[in-house]
Amino acid sequence: MTAQDAWEAVLGELQLQISKANFTTWLKPTKGISYDNNVFLIGVPNSFVGEWLEKRWHSLIKKTLASILGRDLQIKFQVGASCPDTRAVSPLLSVKNGNDAGKRHGLPPPALSPKYTFDNFVVYSSNCLAHAAAVDVAREPAKNYNPLFIYAGSGLGKTHLLQAIGHAGWAGGYDVLYTSGEQFTNEFVNSLRNHTFDDFRLKYRSPDILLMDDVQFLCGKDQTQENFFYAFNDLYNASRQIVLCSDRPPKSLPHLEERLLSRFEGGILVNIESPDCQARLAIIQAKAEKMLLPLPNDALEAIARTPFQNVRELEGCLNKVAALAKLSNQAPTAETVRQAIPEILVKSPAANVSPKKILEQVAAHHNTTPKTILAKKRDRSATLLRYIALYLIREQCQLSFADISDILGYKDHTSTLYGYNKIAAALKEDDLLRQSVDKIVADLQTPQRS
Ligand code: ADP
Ligand code: MG
Repeated sequence: MTAQDAWEAVLGELQLQISKANFTTWLKPTKGISYDNNVFLIGVPNSFVGEWLEKRWHSLIKKTLASILGRDLQIKFQVGASCPDTRAVSPLLSVKNGNDAGKRHGLPPPALSPKYTFDNFVVYSSNCLAHAAAVDVAREPAKNYNPLFIYAGSGLGKTHLLQAIGHAGWAGGYDVLYTSGEQFTNEFVNSLRNHTFDDFRLKYRSPDILLMDDVQFLCGKDQTQENFFYAFNDLYNASRQIVLCSDRPPKSLPHLEERLLSRFEGGILVNIESPDCQARLAIIQAKAEKMLLPLPNDALEAIARTPFQNVRELEGCLNKVAALAKLSNQAPTAETVRQAIPEILVKSPAANVSPKKILEQVAAHHNTTPKTILAKKRDRSATLLRYIALYLIREQCQLSFADISDILGYKDHTSTLYGYNKIAAALKEDDLLRQSVDKIVADLQTPQRS
């Protein structure tokens, strides 16, 4: 059996086990390259797909392969090996090759804000998939992910990413059209009123890359949805890239026609989540640098520790710091930052999180009890949990080290300070610890049902 035969058999099995959208996105563009006694080599179109398969389906692929070949092999991915081209051949329009036009210079389409480029986009753990997919479609429209559907809450960079695709695609020689659900609706209605429907129709069939922001606006507007469905199909069949953004996943969009839902889900769905503390720090550093705003470390950390839920609020805070510093004609300090942080964010954790609740959460997350954490045994894991708890009490309740020492039963606050610094330093380096602490914080901030 050749590697490709074996791989096709594997794909046949996997097709039955995973969703159609996932199969089309991740597995269809792969190929069996070779195998020997130890290793089966799988060709993938780019490292993004390789990493995804490795992370999500490594064991499923390995198991399926073993059942087909009758022995256990390691699996490895090779980028760039020729994969079946999944592009549809256009029945309607010729496929343009953006690179024919060469790299373009000059001004990009006016609808694109010059700020919203990939260069200005800070990548962090919960937006890296969206970013990687966006870079991919800008580089090779309609090749791997079509449509690309990005969903996230407000202020998390959807418009930024969409327009960054626009800039990069345009610079690569592709025709780009950036629009929104609202603009599409207005243009459609106006075209009917002004008898310019043909122009409207043509406009939405011409770009190599259609970028539609806030697609949720189409919900409930039957005629507009119908027209968008036709435009979508024509573009898709002509191997044009479609990128959609929404405030929620397609399934949760109310009053969306079934056929549009299945189109939206037919490519790749990616989500962006709120930045955690480390991501906030990276964003602030990047933005402060761009704004030429000298922020001392304690000021940086004070902003990063504030639980901003989105990047727009974070930017707002930074702008306020810059304005306050300008007003006082001095470089910003931690105090300037304190003034710029919205009161609600400073007060909210302290208002509903008590040291007792923190101890309970830390204990619950580690299958133990507050009593065990507080017992001063020379037990490394209990000590670590005690340090995590005191770190969180300091961060969330803004209590003094002396108060925290009292709560935890330390005689003086040297141990408390030591524990706090130890966790603060470890959080900068230890991803697992950071994830676990972030999870506790998230649970603390989620209202509990009583
Ligand atoms: P959305 O469309 O999701 O509501 P936007 O794209 O308008 O959000 O982003 C809000 C603001 O935050 C913009 O100024 C944008 O540049 C900025 N922003 C969001 N995410 C990032 C990021 N990862 N890196 C840099 N800036 C970001
Ligand atoms: Mg937006």
